[in-house]
Amino acid sequence: MATGFLYHELYMWHDTGHLAGPVPYGNPVQPYEHSEHPETKRRIRNLLEVSGLLKQLTPLEPRPATEEEILRFHTRAHLERIRAGSAYFGIDAGVATPMGRGSFEIALLSAGGVIECVDAVLGGRVENAYALVRPPGHHALRDLAMGFCLFGNAAISGFHLLEAHQLARIAFVDWDVHHGNGTQAAFWEDPRALTISIHQDNCFPPNSGQLSDRGAGKGEGYNINIPLPPGSGVGAYEATFDRVVVPALRKFRPEFIIVPSGFDAGAHDPLGRQMMTSDGFRSLTRKLMAVANEVCGGRLVLCHEGGYNAATAPFFGLAVLEELSGIHTGVVDPFQEMLGGLGGHVLQPHQEAVIGSAAELVEALQ
Ligand code: ZN
Repeated sequence: MATGFLYHELYMWHDTGHLAGPVPYGNPVQPYEHSEHPETKRRIRNLLEVSGLLKQLTPLEPRPATEEEILRFHTRAHLERIRAGSAYFGIDAGVATPMGRGSFEIALLSAGGVIECVDAVLGGRVENAYALVRPPGHHALRDLAMGFCLFGNAAISGFHLLEAHQLARIAFVDWDVHHGNGTQAAFWEDPRALTISIHQDNCFPPNSGQLSDRGAGKGEGYNINIPLPPGSGVGAYEATFDRVVVPALRKFRPEFIIVPSGFDAGAHDPLGRQMMTSDGFRSLTRKLMAVANEVCGGRLVLCHEGGYNAATAPFFGLAVLEELSGIHTGVVDPFQEMLGGLGGHVLQPHQEAVIGSAAELVEALQ
């Protein structure tokens, strides 16, 4: 069976304006590009085409998420605020989340794109799928846009699986370099969803994503944060999967796995200080696929989040999609040698200490 790939040019028309990286411009800050710029994502799709992989994937067409689907997670006030801002010339929709004209409709198409991917996998049309959507979603809270995210695409798809499809257990494995705080918040008291986030310690949001944040009420224990120290390389990420992510998924046995997939843990990303490489992302994808085959018939959807180095992100995307589809194009990542040769890829003791503490949380999982 094939791998689904979902993309739409409209995703690239979500206008984040001329900030200087993640901060507003204005004297003394010269206007520049916003970090969450369309090219970091469009170039992933372009490399898939040029490599020859794109035509071997099954194209999936996004549809707008319905209000009912959005409101399973967000408040009516939040939805209306985004709708109103989009009708004028754009606003800051929340915390560091600029949006332009038409961004409301594009954000609905982004959330609906991930829903389409989970439906395609659940319905057996494709084996697994990658949703290259924009704007991203994993920082959006119930009533607040945050961190370039308007609607919680992954969380909304999770509620769709639980409520429209009546699945009993789902899991999220967020490998974006920033904490998946929105997905965590969506299922904080919900034992139907295991939310796992592997992120750089105290990167964004500030003071979010600690080991001690484990969920509450009936959801206690079903949220696992692995705040890796800055400078973590492929060795730390592989150990995190081997000792925490894979054992947790084996224990929880979800019926479906959603991966909020950012490539900002890549070495040389401007908004992160980790050292992942395309070979590293290949390895994590293989580990995910193996455990997904074991626990949920391989049902796996990756939805795009961050990743701000426009030169390297396409090669991380190609590596992940080659592994998901099992089709190798022969394209060589020209950055692999440089990034893979950096010092510190071997698991370091201070990284192992964090991973060991997270592994203890898996022990406690019911
Ligand atoms: Zn990120």
